[in-house]
Amino acid sequence: MYVPRTTVQPPHRREVSLVSNGVVAPSIHVLMFQWPASDLVNFEPGQYVTFYLQREGKQITRSYSFFSSASHHDRFTLLVKKVPHGFGSTYLCNLSPPEKPILRALAPLGKFVLTDPGDRTVVLVATGTGLAPFVPMLERLRGEHPSTPTWLFFGSRYVDELIDLEELRLLQRVWPGFRFVPVVSRPPTDGSWTGATGHVQEHVRAQLPDLSQADVYLCGVNEMVNEMQEVALQLGCPKEHVFVERYGEDADQQSASPLPMSAPG
Ligand SMILES: Cc1cc2nc3c(=O)[nH]c(=O)nc-3n(C[C@H](O)[C@H](O)[C@H](O)COP(=O)(O)OP(=O)(O)OC[C@H]3O[C@@H](n4cnc5c(N)ncnc54)[C@H](O)[C@@H]3O)c2cc1C
Repeated sequence: MYVPRTTVQPPHRREVSLVSNGVVAPSIHVLMFQWPASDLVNFEPGQYVTFYLQREGKQITRSYSFFSSASHHDRFTLLVKKVPHGFGSTYLCNLSPPEKPILRALAPLGKFVLTDPGDRTVVLVATGTGLAPFVPMLERLRGEHPSTPTWLFFGSRYVDELIDLEELRLLQRVWPGFRFVPVVSRPPTDGSWTGATGHVQEHVRAQLPDLSQADVYLCGVNEMVNEMQEVALQLGCPKEHVFVERYGEDADQQSASPLPMSAPG
């Protein structure tokens, strides 16, 4: 197993306060929160936070992957898509810093963390806000395994939904082991997008037809993760080297068990 540089803490209830909320792409927000000064957090890249929200008098949970560096212990950022009619994402994306909202959160959570790649290639595949956990993971890989061949396939419907496109292109220029493949399923008709089109699955198949020596990490909505999981197995990746985080239907229920509001924090 990967030896974390930081000591990973067991999950713990905390109250977090919003620092900023900005729109970075259509319907996609970056929210920054602050941990209580007396209660800082060490998380592993790939882990997430679960918020406890009130809906019509009932407590519900919604989870979001850490998007910021794992070396920041006092603050964290999240990449949140405002889902049409989605209760939790709309609530979060409508939060405003001047009101100093405080939310109940449980963190750090999750087992979607890096394993030591050894001699294996690392293949990260994301769609949409599924990019979030891979940003701190890339930072960790570049710092600790710079010569490990590392691929990021990042799919979105539209070009303007490709978060951090320029930063990731720049990363590819300064990190020789890193290959970045942005993929757009609905490219502009004016020919301004000259990159890959279609679905990430096709491009993984085309670029990496043999995944027997790879660790494959998949993150995003269920459909892509399920299809890509099949593709990885078909391309020879052993089952135990495919790691998944699903964001879609039912994933929230599986990701956290609700605690009573009075649970010790
Ligand atoms: C471990 C984990 C980490 C997650 N991390 C993130 C993250 O970093 N960023 C993020 O935006 N979301 C993330 N999610 C999804 C998030 O928890 C919520 O499911 C999402 O915000 C929708 O919640 P909601 O209350 O707004 O929608 P609901 O009122 O619950 O309605 C959900 C509906 O929206 C669909 N839906 C859910 N997520 C999406 C999506 N991303 N795009 C389109 N449709 C969707 C569902 O299939 C369902 O039909 C994560 C989920 C899990 C389990």
